[in-house]
Amino acid sequence: MFAKIALDLPVPTEFTYAVPDRLLAELKPGQRVRVPFRTQTRVGYLVSLEESSDFPETKDILAVVDPEPLVPPDLLNLARWISSYYGCALGEAIQAMLPGGVRKRRPRTKVVVRTGSGELPARARKAAAVFEALARFDRPPAVKRLLDAAGTTRAALRTLERAGLVRIEDDEREEELDAERPVESDTPPALEAPQQAALDAIRPDVLAPRFHVHLLLGVTGSGKTEVYLRAIAETLRTGRQAIVLVPEIALTPQTVRRFRARFARVAVLHSAQAEAERRRAWQRIRRGEADVVIGPRSAVFAPVARLGLVVVDEEHETSFKQETVPRYNARDVAVIRARDAGCPVILGSATPSLESYANGRKGRYALHRLPGRAGGYPLPPVEIVDLSQESSHLFSRRLRVAVADAVAAGGQVILFLNRRGFSTIVVCERCRHTLGCPNCSSTLVFHKGRAKTVCHLCGHEARATPKCPECHATALKYVGSGTERVAEEAAEAWPGVKLVRVDSDSARGERLEDAIESFRKGDARLLVGTQMVAKGHHFPDVTLVGIVNADTALHLPDFRANERTFSLISQVAGRAGRGERGGRVIVQTFNPRHYAIETAARHDYEAFAKAELEERAMLGLPPERRCALAVLSATEEPDARAAAHRVAEAVRGQMAGGMVELRGPAKAPIERVRGRWRYMVLLLSKSAGALARACAAARGARVPRRVDLVIDIDPAAVL
Ligand code: ADP
Ligand code: ZN
Repeated sequence: MFAKIALDLPVPTEFTYAVPDRLLAELKPGQRVRVPFRTQTRVGYLVSLEESSDFPETKDILAVVDPEPLVPPDLLNLARWISSYYGCALGEAIQAMLPGGVRKRRPRTKVVVRTGSGELPARARKAAAVFEALARFDRPPAVKRLLDAAGTTRAALRTLERAGLVRIEDDEREEELDAERPVESDTPPALEAPQQAALDAIRPDVLAPRFHVHLLLGVTGSGKTEVYLRAIAETLRTGRQAIVLVPEIALTPQTVRRFRARFARVAVLHSAQAEAERRRAWQRIRRGEADVVIGPRSAVFAPVARLGLVVVDEEHETSFKQETVPRYNARDVAVIRARDAGCPVILGSATPSLESYANGRKGRYALHRLPGRAGGYPLPPVEIVDLSQESSHLFSRRLRVAVADAVAAGGQVILFLNRRGFSTIVVCERCRHTLGCPNCSSTLVFHKGRAKTVCHLCGHEARATPKCPECHATALKYVGSGTERVAEEAAEAWPGVKLVRVDSDSARGERLEDAIESFRKGDARLLVGTQMVAKGHHFPDVTLVGIVNADTALHLPDFRANERTFSLISQVAGRAGRGERGGRVIVQTFNPRHYAIETAARHDYEAFAKAELEERAMLGLPPERRCALAVLSATEEPDARAAAHRVAEAVRGQMAGGMVELRGPAKAPIERVRGRWRYMVLLLSKSAGALARACAAARGARVPRRVDLVIDIDPAAVL
């Protein structure tokens, strides 16, 4: 008997080992095993058992690591799909599925438990000593501690075990820490007609169960979550389980509370969890003790045994895309997992990805619309302010008046800007020198509070000085604004109004929660923040949202710039007017007539999507065609350039009859990051198969070691 073993190495193949007779009965696919590899031993995943081997010589598997498979068969299949679709090693795909704590876990401690029945054999003096020692422990001791206490060896313990006096068991004590109790339960509201219609369409697929993708297109606050909750309730009634994916940033205590209020056995997977906590949640799911699993993208791999529904909330979010190997998109993996499990998927968003929307229009996904807010609240009116007509580019006259009015009327205000720091460009007024990162082709951002200039690409930091490093004049000017400046000027403009700032500089961990809590309770009246505030929070007293600058994403040289802009404006605007008081939104922009901004102001996703889809079709870009991006980087620019040409040639050499279009090689829009020059080649095709073959050819290009080649399938950004 032979076994194929996947190692966590970036090699496209699995390795064949012989199965020694003593392990024959123990081995199952999905288990980890220890194998000799080159001069070391390594742990790998057993992916299949085979009768014969193509290799004349194979080494033996040394040992089994887990008595039971760590990876169940359905996840092993999913790993195969990930490996072939995203072009990574099977071992890398499997590795990504398991939380770190589970992989590193040593086998659980064995403890000795008294069973009571049976008789001590005569003349078994050592066994008697062990039995006596056992009586002195008030709870089952670990095997080793017991034997130490009795001063004897394992043989004596085995005698006791055979006599039926003790049992050796896994230590379950760590499970006691799992004290997640359900919060107060709530009463579900009666569904509104569009919610009911969506649920009625989803229910048959849940009950069957059968695979089908449902796209829930509902404005912010339209009650999408309520539809998920109902569909999950139906799923649990069939004895199956559900997985809910939410963007990391939206996985707030508020979100979790809503699920716990409805369902008893909810497990949360979170990347901020301590390893032990995550491991316990994972093990609990593996043992079938959770009905609903909520988590960010990696929760798509939760080891639920009877999957009955997958929900992907805010399905357009780029945080579902992992930017390290394997570069998977959890939304797409969710669809594949549901297909294989034969169960439905609900993708929900106010601003779906154009990929999903196009599938909805074509009828491949069932499209359900929730056109208005639940509970009868209207969507807030959105006013556009043309910044080119204003003297201050931070707060226009209209925004100033609106903030003052809102605060005076007892409302709360959110000021949004998707840029951290104080100023984004530091330029010398005398010699025009701009402070740049020594490692990247980016400007340094001035962080006033920390008195540092920082590169947001690589994290490089320098002490901020008032002198120009080139001409030494004290003439540095701070151009472009971030949230730090907005907060400072807001504090000056509205003195006495308590303000909190929420971005990844101001707030980490608990301080972030404190700031948000202070705003939620109403202590703080003004919140200044980046997109961290745009997700998952429900502030009923917010009557005004000001988007300080809507153009931050608009001019990125990325084909998704318009889509990002539309979605960000919609999501942020969606924070306003979620309560009795109503609300309004002011959008400041230099591009008041841009269709992404105009349609967002009308809350008209479909008008935007149709226009944008036409544009993409004309340019041959996704979702019209699929796309893969090869990025080559090296410390010496000519190396990166030459390698990019190599890759392009390799692809051209095998392009299947014009099925794949190649664009580039070209310098990447962000030319240099962390000291490496970047070139890229973009591949486009209507056929996933042809694209995969082109990528395989790219991967096969002979690129020198000093050049890094990254191939990203369905990239989230082309920068
Ligand atoms: P979304 O997920 O689309 O943003 P939510 O499900 O969070 O929307 O709903 C927004 C608000 O409306 C919540 O406070 C929710 O409790 C409430 N809500 C949802 N459905 C209904 C309904 N049918 N009747 C009354 N209120 C509802
Ligand atoms: Zn840098």
